[in-house]
Amino acid sequence: MKFADIPGHDDVKDRLRNLVDSGRLPHALLLEGQAGIGKLALARALAQYIHCTGRRPGDTDSCGVCPSCRQSRSLNHIDTFFVYPVTRTEKMDYAPVSDEFAPEWREYLGIDTDRQRVFQDIDAWTDSFGKKGSALITYAAESGDLIHKLSMTSHTSAYKTVVWWLPERMNQECANKLLKMIEEPYEGTCLIMASDRPDLILPTVYSRLQRVEVSRYDDSAIAAYLVARMGIDDAAAQAAAHNARGSMRRAMTMVSANTWTRTMLPRFMELMRLAYQRNVGELRRWANDLAGDGRDRAAAFCDFAASQVRENFMARLAGLTSPLVYMTPDESAFAKKFCRFITEANAEPLIREFGDARRDIIGNANVKIVAFDLALKVILLLLPPKK
Ligand SMILES: [Zn+2]
Repeated sequence: MKFADIPGHDDVKDRLRNLVDSGRLPHALLLEGQAGIGKLALARALAQYIHCTGRRPGDTDSCGVCPSCRQSRSLNHIDTFFVYPVTRTEKMDYAPVSDEFAPEWREYLGIDTDRQRVFQDIDAWTDSFGKKGSALITYAAESGDLIHKLSMTSHTSAYKTVVWWLPERMNQECANKLLKMIEEPYEGTCLIMASDRPDLILPTVYSRLQRVEVSRYDDSAIAAYLVARMGIDDAAAQAAAHNARGSMRRAMTMVSANTWTRTMLPRFMELMRLAYQRNVGELRRWANDLAGDGRDRAAAFCDFAASQVRENFMARLAGLTSPLVYMTPDESAFAKKFCRFITEANAEPLIREFGDARRDIIGNANVKIVAFDLALKVILLLLPPKK
């Protein structure tokens, strides 16, 4: 992560660079501000800047191409450690440390993709544990683990850095151990914390951190980023920015939810068209596309499809303009020709198949297989009844 990958925050970037360039890097630094504004990304960019070996005097960012930068970008830098809140899984009868969830963390941050995740969302990270709503914390074992790592001499760099996401979630025991480490730090170590709720950090710890405040984004900065990055028009970007209350993450989530909802009708239309044509080869591709959207979206699509079948059946019985039919103009345009295919004979069975597919998808079945199997059943159910 380079500073340049993060929009705005020029004042914070200047301050962080100055700390490094002037040799006044503190042992413990806290980036504080509301959620969804890129604090973790700034912490990562700072660590990468510290370790970069390709930087020349006067450069205002890490070079991005030296071995050290490449290792930082791929989370493989040997002198950078990560701490993030976790929770015990069913298999664990002990309190885990962050490193045990390194694969999930990499995936969450999109490390192996072209577009790494710059803005975080604790709900999305919580979901990756498969335990919706459970509170993630940093256990005492984490401090012990960290002390062990920091007590060894650094390998390649003058510094060992720790990027610590959401320190407010450490438990009391962890905080007590950490306090000792902050009071008597190891030479050449830098703890870079990023907190959404600094008010929840133990005061004795908080008072020993050098604080850097990160401001919320203003609406125009959010809108400009949404237009550039997500390819939406200016009016939609302004609306999302206005509702996001300074959080880039929230704005992006709103935009992608909208954009994605609009993909469901074309996907439904495609399924029905291919099934009617009995185009098995293309239906296999269709099933793979659906699986590519991920489990949650595939399940939501099944809900959507079942409701479309229901509405088309009503449209066939009562007419498209009936107040009993709930359709958007686009749905209605498709239903004009399609609704005659949804009859007393197949409406209920189709709805049942979409419901079963949804249940299997949520129940962890292979989405590609479920979707393809569903598509084959739709072929049979769309066949005209025998005379
Ligand atoms: Zn570099």
